[in-house]
Amino acid sequence: MTDYKTFGFTDEQVMIRDNVLGLLQRVLPQSRIAELDAAQADPTEAFQALAADGWLALPFAEALGGANASNKDMAVFIEALGYWHYGVRSAYMTTVIYGGGHLKHHARPELRDALLPKLIAGEHRMAIAYTEPESGSDAAGIRTRAVRDGDGYRITGQKVYITNAHVADTLIVSVKTDPGAGRRGLSLIAVDTKAEGVTIKPMNSLGTRTSRPNEVFLDNVYAPAHHLLGEENGGWPLLMRGLNEERLLLAATGAGHAMRCLDVAREFARNRVAFGRKIAEYQAVAHKFADMHMLTEAARLATFHAADMLDAGEDAVMATTTAKLIATENNYKVADLAMQVMGGAGYVEGEMQRLFREARLGPIGGGSSEILRNVLAARMALSA
Ligand SMILES: Cc1cc2nc3c(=O)[nH]c(=O)nc-3n(C[C@H](O)[C@H](O)[C@H](O)COP(=O)(O)OP(=O)(O)OC[C@H]3O[C@@H](n4cnc5c(N)ncnc54)[C@H](O)[C@@H]3O)c2cc1C
Repeated sequence: MTDYKTFGFTDEQVMIRDNVLGLLQRVLPQSRIAELDAAQADPTEAFQALAADGWLALPFAEALGGANASNKDMAVFIEALGYWHYGVRSAYMTTVIYGGGHLKHHARPELRDALLPKLIAGEHRMAIAYTEPESGSDAAGIRTRAVRDGDGYRITGQKVYITNAHVADTLIVSVKTDPGAGRRGLSLIAVDTKAEGVTIKPMNSLGTRTSRPNEVFLDNVYAPAHHLLGEENGGWPLLMRGLNEERLLLAATGAGHAMRCLDVAREFARNRVAFGRKIAEYQAVAHKFADMHMLTEAARLATFHAADMLDAGEDAVMATTTAKLIATENNYKVADLAMQVMGGAGYVEGEMQRLFREARLGPIGGGSSEILRNVLAARMALSA
């Protein structure tokens, strides 16, 4: 991370960055990442190493066994994971940020106390299952149904593109408990992936091969009543609650990933000779590095500004949404420029083709660029 600036970071945040990168360099060398990518395998050892060093406790309150990290601490941490490996970052996000976030804020104490200590110890993986074949951006348009059955629920429906469901122990599933009531009929229920009636099938995708998306089929699956998060029909505000944090950390991922693309391309350009000169000496190539720097810097500035606003308790919706847009779109632009700099060596095998594939997801997942522009425009009082 040669150009990584830590202006405005505390000493502790610099330590977070250095320690986690040092750990990943040891336990997850780039040669191992290439093997995992080819095998479409989960980066289990690296995830366990993060757990062993206490990183899974980062965002939780001390009373829950956590380290009480701020939003900026989390952005620094996720940026470093995003720099090193998209897949280990996804493993962390699905379990700790999405799954753990629901346990921390919305689960009944009985469920939270049963799962959270295991999650922090690296012994319990989670995933979130909202998207359906007929309903993605329109998260309230789902059809999966939960009906009361004694002291619990029976769930039937289908989910799609669910990251890391194939390695998860628990899914947080969005369901309709009152199908005629739109958003007011939506609930969230924790589902044990080993429960009878759950079938999970990994899907093939352009990138994210070490954090695979899955189809999830739910056929009359039983979940006890205490697995309901919040109130019945009260799931929509719970979905909305974590959006700022999610957008911030997706922005941090994009910023870190863009820096990695830049570093890989720079290493190449310094050494590659064409027509008797290092290609970095050609202005057409050097200007691409200036562009990559500008795009990466903008991604980082927007990310850490949004983190500061969240930590200051400000209304940060515009800031986190803007940061997610800038960082994920810039990340893809940087990946494209970096690949151009590397020519065939970027496109065929090697790290760059993987970085390029990973970078394409950012503007699609976690609120597409179109939906997020809708969010910004809706808050700009455009109509008189
Ligand atoms: C690799 C991967 C991993 C994923 N992981 C998960 C996961 O773990 N859990 C989960 O629940 N989901 C997951 N998703 C789903 C992801 O959140 C959705 O793909 C995303 O929300 C978009 O939904 P969609 O694919 O159904 O597209 P659609 O909603 O059908 O949208 C298609 C296109 O239309 C545009 N569009 C839709 N509505 C509007 C509108 N009102 N205005 C303007 N444009 C619009 C969209 O921006 C998009 O370009 C994942 C997806 C992928 C690809």
